[in-house]
Amino acid sequence: MKIGILSRNAKLYSTSRLVETIKARGHEAHVIDVIRCYMNITSHNPGIFFKGQKLEGFDAVIPRIGASITFYGTAVVRQFEMMGVYSVNESVAISRGRDKLRSLQLLARKGVGLPVTGFAHSPDDVEGVIKMVNGAPLVIKLLEGTQGIGVVLAETENAAKSVIEAFLGLKTNILVQEFIKEAGGADIRCFVIGEKVVAAMKRQGAEGDFRSNIHRGGTTELIKLTPEERSTAARAARIMGLNVAGVDILRSNHGPVVMEVNSSPGLRGIETATGKDVAGMIVDFIEKDAKPFNTKTRGQG
Ligand code: ADP
Ligand code: MG
Repeated sequence: MKIGILSRNAKLYSTSRLVETIKARGHEAHVIDVIRCYMNITSHNPGIFFKGQKLEGFDAVIPRIGASITFYGTAVVRQFEMMGVYSVNESVAISRGRDKLRSLQLLARKGVGLPVTGFAHSPDDVEGVIKMVNGAPLVIKLLEGTQGIGVVLAETENAAKSVIEAFLGLKTNILVQEFIKEAGGADIRCFVIGEKVVAAMKRQGAEGDFRSNIHRGGTTELIKLTPEERSTAARAARIMGLNVAGVDILRSNHGPVVMEVNSSPGLRGIETATGKDVAGMIVDFIEKDAKPFNTKTRGQG
């Protein structure tokens, strides 16, 4: 097979692990920087050019689209889909996952456990939305934040009010969320491939930080999932339409709650914590699932 990895940097751990695994299986691996792709949007012969050369003969692509290039990156994935190239995660599913509000609404609709979450536009509704999530302490999040940046814990009602007002004043979209204190600054990353949780780890935030992101100094350890956590994570990925996903769960008093579903989950943390060959499992999945035009949406929507 000829497989493209849509990534900005071939030296990243996840990218290089995928390249090495694909080659070890006797396939061809090409790292394609999506921001150096340009496209020909035509109905008869849609094409993609990379640094002046037409991309041809690809059997599959693995999108690893960074949050800062979501718009352009998903456009390139969509173009591959129009050309009939199989993408392990589809453009529509990636876009869904990048918007925290949209993701939570999709999950809520299917009855997945979530932290109580509010969303408001008008500064007049700040008190209403604080009350809705049962008051402070509460968590405030930028809709498109990542790596823990843009996630704030407001410990008192007054702090919550002024932070929310400040964000709304800046015309920034935010979520207001119940603080799951009992999670103790830890969350669980479930790595899902093709509707199955293939690996899981616990991430514990640095001393004094309620955010468990590895980029914020969090550490990882092995964890055994309950059957409920396992099925919640698998369902969340399926609802989002992602074949490969990192589903982040908090252990709350009211059972597992899904915080977010990541469409380009990193491999380093999970492979190191679990000792599993997650890259190999992604390639296994592609070998089974990749067929021309095997996209649910063909880039529509
Ligand atoms: P990001 O996309 O920036 O990673 P998250 O929503 O995943 O944003 O939040 C970052 C971290 O903050 C989470 O991994 C978790 O440890 C902590 N966190 C987020 N929301 C809550 C919450 N409602 N209650 C408790 N901890 C939370
Ligand atoms: Mg996160």
